Parts: sequence; structure tokens; C-alpha cells
Amino acid sequence: MARPKYVFITGGVVSSLGKGIAAASIANLLESRGLRVTLQKLDPYLNIDPGTMSPFQHGEVFVTDDGAETDLDLGHYERFTHAVLTRANNATSGSIYERILSRERRGDYLGRTVQVIPHVTGAIRQQIEKVGTDGIDVVLTEIGGTIGDIESLPFVEAIRQMRQEVGRSGCIYVHVTLVPYIAAAGELKTKPTQHSVKELRALGIQPDILICRTETGLSRDLREKISLFCDVDRAAVIAARDVDTVYQVPVEFSEQGVDRIVLDRLGLEAGPPNLGPWKRMLRTLRHPTDSVDIAVVGKYVDYEDSYKSLKEALLHGGLAHGWQTRIHWIEAESVSASTSERLLGRYDGILVPGGFGSRGIDGMIETIRFAREYEVPYFGICLGMQTMVIEFLRNVCGIPGAHSTEFDPEAPARAFLKLRELKGVEDLGGTMRLGAWPCRISEGSFAREAYGTAEISERHRHRYEFNRPEIEGTVTAHGMRITGETPEQGYVEICELPSHPWFLGCQFHPEFKSKPLEPQPLFKAFVKASHERRLRRDKTSAEQEAERFLRLHQPRPLAATARWADFD
Ligand code: GLN
Repeated sequence: MARPKYVFITGGVVSSLGKGIAAASIANLLESRGLRVTLQKLDPYLNIDPGTMSPFQHGEVFVTDDGAETDLDLGHYERFTHAVLTRANNATSGSIYERILSRERRGDYLGRTVQVIPHVTGAIRQQIEKVGTDGIDVVLTEIGGTIGDIESLPFVEAIRQMRQEVGRSGCIYVHVTLVPYIAAAGELKTKPTQHSVKELRALGIQPDILICRTETGLSRDLREKISLFCDVDRAAVIAARDVDTVYQVPVEFSEQGVDRIVLDRLGLEAGPPNLGPWKRMLRTLRHPTDSVDIAVVGKYVDYEDSYKSLKEALLHGGLAHGWQTRIHWIEAESVSASTSERLLGRYDGILVPGGFGSRGIDGMIETIRFAREYEVPYFGICLGMQTMVIEFLRNVCGIPGAHSTEFDPEAPARAFLKLRELKGVEDLGGTMRLGAWPCRISEGSFAREAYGTAEISERHRHRYEFNRPEIEGTVTAHGMRITGETPEQGYVEICELPSHPWFLGCQFHPEFKSKPLEPQPLFKAFVKASHERRLRRDKTSAEQEAERFLRLHQPRPLAATARWADFD
């Protein structure tokens, strides 16, 4: 089988330039020409994986089917392409060193000195080559951080060495950089880009393509200048101007011929690009026929990156119907019995997402009470399902002491617990249930209607499980239904309130599998239910308005003295 080609993406000047989106967009274009692609992120930090990093620091932890806790860029990769990503598609310095050090302890190096070059760089190269199997045409590897960082040096060296191995047409280097606008001078400045490329060249890498982030775009002169100073073909100096949605980026790149340049450099043959469906999706995004307002009540709401996939999945849920989803982020701690109506009253649907730790739990429970009592469509994800069951036990089943042992280890009624606590055995232990698990859905449920099938698979990242033996009987006797479970172990996956317009909690994270062209079914159904409520509400307020109008303009009996003539 032919060896894959490699595209390496680095970033310069500052972080947060959107390297991940750039990589995903190039992959999207190559895929639209019929090539098979995969993407990989190599992060220079020392944590073994982002699993234990704070969502405030690092944003969302994205979970793959095989249960890897990865960088959120992998979410972009999956949303922009059909690449199937696994644990091998994200590695950190920490994970690379861990592997090398345990080999060293085992004596695998036979007494030789273990060094950054060749051992660390060798392990990085292995990691890169590992994902290019199974008929993949192009591997796109993004190096985290910024060129010039001390910790990224071994990665840069490893991708430099790759060219030695695969040859000139075997790989290319794409460098994402910044061309800032300096207001005082009224000009875009190319100097930071020049410096960044200089730095990259000092490390032995000559970029083939420069992706220049600018607020506006690049003039011909500026392209010439960058091309000359950085020794990059003029056509390969690409302007990545700020756009209204990240989904526009592949189109911008395609218009500037990025995919063509990549193919030429790599000597690859491919069909013409088919961007039709993607462009239609963009048109729907820009010209929605209606909108829904969704309140997301969580604990990391000030930092939207912590709910990246969730945000996208809600947008996709709207796109599926041609509508815009407007998301309103509400800090769970601010919701209480006295504020719930004011804070939540105006939304069409309410969602409580995943989370860890006890801060904000009371606010979530209050939020769910509000959604249940006022018949607002409710979608609870992971922690949002756990709090949904706890609210139900407390306020409907009359068990005020119901809680998850995560928040109250001594809870008199344990609604959620680690399985070990229940069985006294070390099965899943304190570790998480991660990655894809199958789930069987019952007939006649919201979930079944949404998915249209009984067997599904969704991704997980949690520790505490629904305590079936101790609470199932109570909640079901009061009208809650368990509508999804893992076929073998019987772990509870989905709970619903059938008496409500739409009220569903799931233990898994459906947001990880949503794509703009393939909206996740539960999000699609939740947005639809929320829209129905909006219509009901609009209708009620239209009816109220009509009544008020009639009251005000009711034909009054004419005064006795008035004659028809007075009205002429
Ligand atoms: N903290 C809960 C648990 O570990 C929920 C996790 C989540 O929402 N991802 O079970």
C-alpha cells in the first residue's frame, strides 16, 4: 500500500490563531476531492493527556470513540471531516516521555544513553506514522504551541527529520501566522510573520504555505512582500481573514487554491472538489428561517471553550431544521428558587451540560425544577441527567436526602454512585467510564423517536452511575422512565419524563458526535421541541394580544345623545 503524504501545521507569533481550524479546513478540502485523510495533534506540554486539566485553562476535553481524553482541536477535526480519530491522534510531551522512561526502566535501551535526539524525536515520528495506516492518503499533523517555545523543539525537529525520510514530495509544512493591523500606523504589519518564519527556518524548516491571519485580508503588495521576505511562493501566501463562522474557512481556503497547492506539492492526484453540501449548510446558517433561544445552565459558562462541542451541537441541531440556535449561557450558581423565573422564563429550551464538583449543583436542580414545572423542553447531559434524577427524587418522589455520592458521600438516598460503592467490588473502581458504549433504546420514547433506531453508540466521560437497585423502582413509580441502557451491564443511559413535552437526560455526551452536515439526533429533537414551545408561546402571546386589542377597542354603546350624523 502506498505510503501516506504528510502535512505538518505549525503556528507562529501568538497562540489562538486557529491552527486547529486551519488544519481541519485543509483536511475538509482534501476530503471533498475524494482523498482519505486523518488528523493528529501533538501537544508540547508535559501533562500525559488533557483529562485532568481544568476546563477553564484548557477548554473542553474531547473524547474519542476509543475513550481517549484529548485536546479540543480533535473536535474540530471530526466536525470538519469523516476521519475516525483514536488515542493515537493526540499525544503530548508527557505521554511520549512516559513511554520512553518506562522503556528505559525496563532496560530496553540496553545501557545506551537515552536522549532527546534520537529517542524522543524517534518516538514522535513513530507517533506520526502510526496514524497513517488503513489506506489513508494524507496525514495532517498539527504541532501545538508556538514556534520558539522551548518545549516544542523536539516536535519541530521530528517533523524536520520526516522530510529526510519521506522526501520533498512526501510532506509539506504549513505555517499559521499573524499579520496584525496597527491602528496608529493605519497598516497591516508583516514583521511578526517574517520573524516567525525566520525562527522556523533556523530550526531547519522552510514553510511551503503561509496562512496569514488578518482582520481584513491581504493586498497584492503585502502578499508580494511576505513572499519575498519569507521565500514562499506568492500563491502560497494565504489570507485567513476573520470570518463570521469557522465553517467559512474551508471556502476561503478553496477560493485561494490551498487544496490545489497542497496536491501539487505532494504530487497527488485527486478529483475536483465537491463543496456543494458544505456551501448549502453555510447558506442555511446565514439565512435561517426562524430561531430558538436555548439557556445552557452550567458551571464553566464564562469560558465558552469549555463547552465547545456542546455549542456546536446546538447550532447543528438548529441547522437541521433551517433555524438559528441562540445560546444563552447562565451561571448555575446564580439560579435559585427566587431567581429561576426571572433568569429562565424567556427561553424556549433549557440544557444542563456535564461537569464535575459540587459548585452550582443546587442551581442546576432549581433549573430543572423550573423546566419540569413550566413544561420547558429540557435536555440534561451527563451531570445534567444526574441532577435531573436527583431533582425528581427530591421534589416529586419526596426524598429530600437524595444525592450523588460525588457531592454527598453520606447521602441517605444514593441516586448515583461509583459501582464499587454498590457492589463492594473493584470493577470500574475510581476510574471513568470513557469512550463509546452501546445503548439500547426503548420503544415509544423521545430518544427512540429522535434516533429512529433501537441500537446506538455514544461517548462517555463520567464516574458515577445511576443506582439502579436502590432508586429505579421509586422514580419509575412516580412517572420517570428509563429508556436507554447498555445491553450487557444494564447501566442506565437515558431517562425521560413521558408526561412532559420533551424532558430527557442522557449519561453520555452526544455533543461529541455532532457535525454540521450530520446533526446529532438528540440535539435535533431538542431544538425541535424547543421551537414548538416557542410557537405555542408566540401563539399564546398573540392570543393575549388579540384579547387585549378587543378589550380596548370593543364597540361601546353609543351615548344617548349621539346621532349617526355626528360620525360623518
Ligand atoms: N461528575 C459526574 C460523574 O463523574 C458527571 C460527569 C460529567 O458530566 N461529565 O459522573
